Amino acid sequence: MSTDHLNIEVMLHPVPERLTPSTPTPYVNSMEQYQKLYKESITHPTLFWGKLAKDMLHWHKPFETVVSGGFLEGDVTWFAEGELNATYNCVDRHAKENPDKIAIIYEADEPDQSRYISYGVLLRDVCRLANTLKSLGLKKGDTVAIYLPMVPEAVVAFLACARLGIIHSVVFAGFSAEALRDRIQDASSRLVITADEGRRGGKTIHTKKIVDTAVKECPTVEHVLVFRRTGSEIPFKAPYDLWWHEELEKHRPYCVPEVMNSEDPLFLLYTSGSTGKPKGILHTTAGYLLGAAATFKYVFDYHPNDIFGCMADIGWITGHTYIVYGPLCNGATTVLFESTPVYPTPSRYWQIVDKHKITQFYTAPTAIRLLRRHGREHVEGYDLSSLRVIGTVGEPINPEAWEWYYEVVGKKKCAIVDTYWQTETGAAIISPLPGAIPTKPGSATLPFFGIEPVVLDPITGQELKSNNVEGVLAVKKPWPSLARTIYNNHHRYLDTYLSQYKGYYFTGDSVGRDKDGYYWIRGRVDDVINVAGHRLSTAEIESALITHESVAEAAVIGVKDDLTTNAIHAFTTLKPRFADTTDEKDLILQVRKVIGPFAAPKKIYIVNDLPKTRSGKIMRRILRKISEKEEDQLGDLSTLSDPSIIPTLIEKVRNS
Ligand code: ATP
Ligand code: MG
Repeated sequence: MSTDHLNIEVMLHPVPERLTPSTPTPYVNSMEQYQKLYKESITHPTLFWGKLAKDMLHWHKPFETVVSGGFLEGDVTWFAEGELNATYNCVDRHAKENPDKIAIIYEADEPDQSRYISYGVLLRDVCRLANTLKSLGLKKGDTVAIYLPMVPEAVVAFLACARLGIIHSVVFAGFSAEALRDRIQDASSRLVITADEGRRGGKTIHTKKIVDTAVKECPTVEHVLVFRRTGSEIPFKAPYDLWWHEELEKHRPYCVPEVMNSEDPLFLLYTSGSTGKPKGILHTTAGYLLGAAATFKYVFDYHPNDIFGCMADIGWITGHTYIVYGPLCNGATTVLFESTPVYPTPSRYWQIVDKHKITQFYTAPTAIRLLRRHGREHVEGYDLSSLRVIGTVGEPINPEAWEWYYEVVGKKKCAIVDTYWQTETGAAIISPLPGAIPTKPGSATLPFFGIEPVVLDPITGQELKSNNVEGVLAVKKPWPSLARTIYNNHHRYLDTYLSQYKGYYFTGDSVGRDKDGYYWIRGRVDDVINVAGHRLSTAEIESALITHESVAEAAVIGVKDDLTTNAIHAFTTLKPRFADTTDEKDLILQVRKVIGPFAAPKKIYIVNDLPKTRSGKIMRRILRKISEKEEDQLGDLSTLSDPSIIPTLIEKVRNS
């Protein structure tokens, strides 16, 4: 398959100048250096990962075997004999060296309520909570559900579990009681850690009440531990319900870390559910921690005095890896942001960059599109000169949105890192390195060290070895932070990732590799559209739509059509000031112009909102079902952010 039909002009952006001469020199400083290191990491993976593991992690007992097993049998292990504790790595060693260094900057929902937590305080809190968990009879191998808003205590809860080898299962604190119940049941959690209420965007979330409903059907839960966030009156039934502040007070602020084997589970976490029922992904201690720590350092070019701001929620893998484990393992200062990009105004992100002098800023394309929709005037007036690296994750970023981020936020002086990865991969696997890799808007560029991506022919499964190819994205060899299984469902793990293309890890995404070897994520394999012999990707057509001045967001799907096998339908939202002046024909014309007549959508629906997961990804499968008039088969909706938009979408399609 060729990339001939891709005539979107691609501009190569050179590695940007540093902001000021005083900013640190990037660890990887040129393309040549990247290529040399990358080559070494692929030809000698044992040497490469072995050295990195020794350099970046503290081991209670050293490992002997770097890697064993493979994708054929699904029996991969890393650092097998090694023993370590994730919290010793993330807290103790930094608390010893520099107890006053700020570990967490808590930027609360209300802008005037920041809190600063040092490594010393973090260690004591983690230990008190770990001792509390112990006193409740919890032990290594048990699972605990964490259903907490974005407060520092959430990080304390992660780490207290990890200190004892308890597997944490974090559930995004915006999920419904049913979604929470299903996740508690699936993981057989013995304890739920929650808050009285949450605050987000000026609104109150009745967290504890949601937990009360969920646990009614969860016989494995022995207690609910409640952190006091707002102090409002809530239903409380002692001794089943316990107050965080009362319990922690009873315990000593030191707890010996449980020594864990490298392959002992660290946590389980459910995927976003974009393509179906969420999967309970299980990550192990050493491999995951190393992947998180190493990518944090190199992808974001983290240096010791940096302030790292990842805007994701701790309920997603991005929050696990780049708010908690990656930064803390490096002894960094990490920002925990409780609010939304538009509260109290669409300037909130830039306000906090200015206020905390954030050096690396990381968010999702959906947030960039949202802020672009609001206009650049909300960015102006803030001092963003502390920024060096700005990143995105979660979906392909449309080149138009990329350029906006680059110019309006980065002032053409910051490196953009479009990081491609998954809950399963644990850490970024394809991404630019700030000082080394020139970028192309819309491409995640090149693989991280030790990662060998391959493009496979979707039908034959053959590796397409040259450049200028299109196919499905897989990875050839194991790397440390890849998930080892789906919790209690190893069959599904093998079926989903390792069976389809024998000997490879299959990502489920379709991809192009261009003439320079750069990777372009085209969208989900299930979403690829086949029109009269052309294989078209959702990302490409959506990006073409977004180049129209009126379009804020677009979702493209292939709908069954007898003539050409698939017909392209598109759903778009508009920027407010164009709402009355744009019609569907203009948008169709735009796609014809940018890609070609064969890619022109047969139908375009202008809507107010697109169905998204709680983590902000467009759920195309729902739009497909609605367009095919199969709205009784929408599938798993547990992660849908706003179910109330569905009837409107159905009506729109029915009346068209
Ligand atoms: P589910 O697996 O339950 O369907 P999900 O795949 O959305 O949900 P995540 O693990 O949160 O769950 O998301 C990983 C997916 O997000 C990737 O497979 C890819 O499709 C998309 N993705 C993440 N980062 C990028 C990126 N930088 N560019 C393009 N796509 C990305
Ligand atoms: Mg997925």
